[in-house]
Amino acid sequence: MTHANPTQAYPDASRCSHASAPQPSVPMPPGPHADCDGGDCDVLVIGGGPAGTTAATLLARKGWRVTLLEKDKHPRFHIGESLLPMAMPILQRLGALEKVAAVGTFKQGADFPRDDGGEGYNSFDFARAYEVKYPHAYQVPRAEFDQVLFEHARENGVDAREQIKVEHVEFSDSGQPVVHACDADACKSGGEHVFRPRYLVDASGRDALLGGKFKIKRKNRKHQSAAVFSHFSGVKRREGTDAGNVSIYRYAHGWIWLIPLPDDVMSVGAVCSPAHMKTRRGDSEGFLMRTLATVPEIQARMQGSERVGPVHATGNYAYECTRMCGPNWVLVGDAYTFVDPMFSSGVFLGMHGAEKAAEMIDCVLREPARERELQRALVNHFNVGLDEFKWFIYRFTSPTMKHLFANPRNYLQIEQAVIAMLAGDVFDSAGVRKRLRIFRVLYTLTAIGMLPKALGHWWRRRRANRAGFDDDAAQSVSQAGSQAGSQASSQASSQ
Ligand SMILES: Cc1cc2nc3c(=O)[nH]c(=O)nc-3n(C[C@H](O)[C@H](O)[C@H](O)COP(=O)(O)OP(=O)(O)OC[C@H]3O[C@@H](n4cnc5c(N)ncnc54)[C@H](O)[C@@H]3O)c2cc1C
Repeated sequence: MTHANPTQAYPDASRCSHASAPQPSVPMPPGPHADCDGGDCDVLVIGGGPAGTTAATLLARKGWRVTLLEKDKHPRFHIGESLLPMAMPILQRLGALEKVAAVGTFKQGADFPRDDGGEGYNSFDFARAYEVKYPHAYQVPRAEFDQVLFEHARENGVDAREQIKVEHVEFSDSGQPVVHACDADACKSGGEHVFRPRYLVDASGRDALLGGKFKIKRKNRKHQSAAVFSHFSGVKRREGTDAGNVSIYRYAHGWIWLIPLPDDVMSVGAVCSPAHMKTRRGDSEGFLMRTLATVPEIQARMQGSERVGPVHATGNYAYECTRMCGPNWVLVGDAYTFVDPMFSSGVFLGMHGAEKAAEMIDCVLREPARERELQRALVNHFNVGLDEFKWFIYRFTSPTMKHLFANPRNYLQIEQAVIAMLAGDVFDSAGVRKRLRIFRVLYTLTAIGMLPKALGHWWRRRRANRAGFDDDAAQSVSQAGSQAGSQASSQASSQ
């Protein structure tokens, strides 16, 4: 996707004409009909994951009355454990960085195998990034991370409620959102709540509540993949300061992650092409272990390890909504789009989009006439950064990218710009973006030099994407092998 004005800066709250006035200790009066379940609320946020809690907390800190609804009860399992450095300043602005550090593993960088067939790897340390903004991040058990952010939202004045599921949303003739929600399993017995906020934030993740309502959610045709993953103990970590690295390996049908979590837990997952997923016979655990066994370095690191969690499988998960916002509503995080977790960008993109959406909403609630202008700027800003990730993701398993990542060179600080991208610095740095353009030229020239291999890969990928999935399982998460504790290494070697 290209955008008309990629360098256009998002006009944040500092450019909202009322923003220079002192923050009111009592918020602006609510709209004429704002009513959230009997109380006033300016903003209703659907979904208590990282995107929803970020938007809710920031808006509450600006003085708005915010209600946040989460259908589950924290702590609950979620995938998405490797954070990017650029999420750290957002956590700082939320006031939650220290709490997150307390539940995470220190992450200094990401590593990718060398091209020599051995066990060597190249570590891309965030401290070497171009114009380094934040030198490290954390790997987090999402159950704890999400709980920390949810409770933090509450501490910041958000009316944060769990086990309340939004069932449907409608808009009144004047465009005001009307949100119908139920206590867990209690709708039939009268547990219905009705909310009429002035603004609605959909952060419902892959449920994509408004995406479904407006029929604007589309499967990503350029990139289709599925994933199988679990938690293991006893997996060998990198040495020294690399011990917290996320390790990324390619294999014939996709790529594999190893994410070190606290308490000797390693999150291990395989992302597959549709064609490979179709070869799955029997249970997900066998499929995962067979796939891991195709990479000798992974087998070596997992020797003697033990599975300590259920095996989860997700169907085709890449999608996007054709709109990000409309009158009195905005989509943030996975409720808007999800591409692929290859560069661990999901949580950061969700939190960044939520922060920018909160700035937009803060302005719009003060100056409703500017809504369209501010929404346009938000969409442009967000999609430009998202496209940087997409460009790398679509090409990551190609022989050309494999070659470039296995043989990094820092000509013109291009390697540093790639590290900045890996850190999530894709939105605001003209220097990074300029160097990433040069990287694209380098990629094309390298691909021409490796033409037969590059064409072969392009053809296989095209065929795999066309094959698609039998079921459009964008939402589905299945679990298998719910009893943890099988011997991973013996499975890996026996299959
Ligand atoms: C295989 C895989 C691996 C990944 N690995 C990484 C990684 O390493 N790093 C990374 O950054 N990202 C990763 N991601 C992406 C990451 O999981 C998401 O991008 C991230 O969780 C998005 O946050 P969110 O707040 O938008 O949505 P979520 O975290 O999904 O939160 C949405 C919340 O909304 C709630 N909800 C849904 N519907 C309703 C409703 N009707 N009413 C009330 N509440 C509702 C849900 O219960 C949920 O708590 C991965 C994704 C996959 C599929």
